[in-house]
Amino acid sequence: MTITEPTNSRGNILLVDDIPENLQLLSELLTQLGYNIRSVTNGRMAMKTLNVKRPDLILLDIKMPEMDGYQVCAAIKANESLRDIPVIFISALDDAFDKVKAFACGGVDYITKPFQIEEVVARLENQLTIQRQKFVLLQEVKKRQEAEEVLYQSRALLSSVLNTALDGIAALQTIRNLQTGEIEDFRCLVVNPVIAKVFEKSREELIGKRVFKKFIYRINPEFFDRIISVVETGEPVEADFYYPWGDSSWYHFVAVKLGDGFAITVRDITLRKKMELELQAANRELQLLAHMDGLTKIANRRCFDEFLAREWRRLCRSSQPISLLLLDVDYFKSYNDYFGHQRGDDCLIQIADILQKTVSRPVDIVARYGGEEFVIVLPETSQDGAVVIAQAIHNSIQTLEILHPASTVNHYVTVSIGISCVIPDHNLSLEFLIDQADKALYVAKQKGRNCYDITQF
Ligand code: GH3
Ligand code: MG
Ligand code: MG
Repeated sequence: MTITEPTNSRGNILLVDDIPENLQLLSELLTQLGYNIRSVTNGRMAMKTLNVKRPDLILLDIKMPEMDGYQVCAAIKANESLRDIPVIFISALDDAFDKVKAFACGGVDYITKPFQIEEVVARLENQLTIQRQKFVLLQEVKKRQEAEEVLYQSRALLSSVLNTALDGIAALQTIRNLQTGEIEDFRCLVVNPVIAKVFEKSREELIGKRVFKKFIYRINPEFFDRIISVVETGEPVEADFYYPWGDSSWYHFVAVKLGDGFAITVRDITLRKKMELELQAANRELQLLAHMDGLTKIANRRCFDEFLAREWRRLCRSSQPISLLLLDVDYFKSYNDYFGHQRGDDCLIQIADILQKTVSRPVDIVARYGGEEFVIVLPETSQDGAVVIAQAIHNSIQTLEILHPASTVNHYVTVSIGISCVIPDHNLSLEFLIDQADKALYVAKQKGRNCYDITQF
C-alpha cells in the first residue's frame, strides 16, 4: 500500500474535467481554501501527471471524450502504485446507475454537479482525513513489524546462545508466601540444556516448576539464603560448589538479580578444581620436603631456624623459659671409617628415629642440625626438664646397642649433649641460646663424651 505523507497544505488535489470553466471555478475556490490544485482536461493527461507527481486525492469528471471518468478510475485502480489515491467522482450524471458504477470501478465518493463548495470540501476532507489516518496506521503497522522482527531476531539469538552455551544458564522467578510476602522457593522460567543436565532433568520437567529449593538444599542449604539475598539486595553472589554428577563434580555459579527473581550461570570447573587440588597437594608436599631432612626424614636445619625464631618471639612475650639440646655423635668419623658411609647413614637414621620417639611433646622439635649433629628445642622447659630429656636420650640410644668398635668410650654408639636454657627477652638473642648449647657440648666432649653438660648462668 502506498500512501504519501501529508503535506503542509491542506492537500494536493488533482482535478480532471474536460470543461475548462468547470476546472477554473473549482480550482479557484479550492486554492482560496488552501489546497494545492493541479488540473487537467482529459484522462490521458491525468494518467501522465499522476505518474510524475502523486496527488493526495483526485476529483474526477465522468463524461469526457476519449477516456471517460470510469476508464480513468479503472486505470488508476489497476496501477499498483496509484491505486491508493482516493478518487471522488464529480459529475452532472445523477442516476443511481452511474453512482453505483462509479463505486464499482473504485471511486470512494460521488458529488453531483452543480455542486456546493461546502459539500465538496466536506467530502474532500473526509477522504483526506481517512488518508491521513491510514498513513498513521501504516506507520504504526510498519513500526510494529520492525519491532516484531527485532523481537524475533533477539529470541532466535537468545535461544541459540542458550542452546549452544557451554555454561548452564537459567532464569528463575520468586514464589512468595501470599500472606507474608516471604520468598518460599523459585520457579524456573528459562533453562538451557546444560543446566538441565546439572539438575538431571529434562527442560520440560523444569520450566514452570518449583524445583529449585529441593535441588539447592542437596548441595548446601546456606546457598538458598544467599540467593534470597541476591533478590532482596540486588547484590550478585558467586561461589564454588561440590556436586558429584557424571564425570563432573565441581561447579562455579554466579547469580544476579533479574526482575523478581534471578539469573544464574553455572560452569563446570571440575578440571580446574582437580588441578587446583593437585597443586595444593604438591605445594604441601613441597613445603614438607623443604622442611624435612632427606636422609633422616626429621625436620631439617631450615625448619629448626624458623621454629626457633617463632618460639623465641612467643616466649619473649610470655617470659617462659626455652631449652635447647645440641647432640653430637661420638667418634662418628671412626664409625664411618670402620663400617663405611652407608652404615654411617643407617646409624644416623636410627638415632633420628629414637630421638623423635623420646621427645614426644607436640610443642617440641627434633631436627638434624648438620652432619652427625642433632638439635632439640623444648619450649616452656626449664633446665631441670631439659636434663631429664638429655638423660632419657642417653638411655634410649644405649638401648639401640649400635656396635661401635672404633669408639674409646663405649662398645656402642653414644652421643654427647650440650644443654642451654634461658628465658627469652629483648636483651638476648636466640644465637646466644645456640652458642651456649654449643659451648656446653664442647665441655661434654672434654669431659669424656657420652654425657651432657649444661651452661650455668
Ligand atoms: P667427636 O667425638 O669429637 O664428635 O668426633 P667425630 O668423629 O664424631 O667428629 P668429626 O667432626 O671429626 O666427624 C664427624 C663425621 O661425621 C665426619 C663425617 O664424615 C660424618 N658425617 C657427617 N654427616 C654424615 C652423613 O650424613 N652420613 C655419614 N655416614 N656420615 C656423616
Ligand atoms: Mg660433629
Ligand atoms: Mg661427633
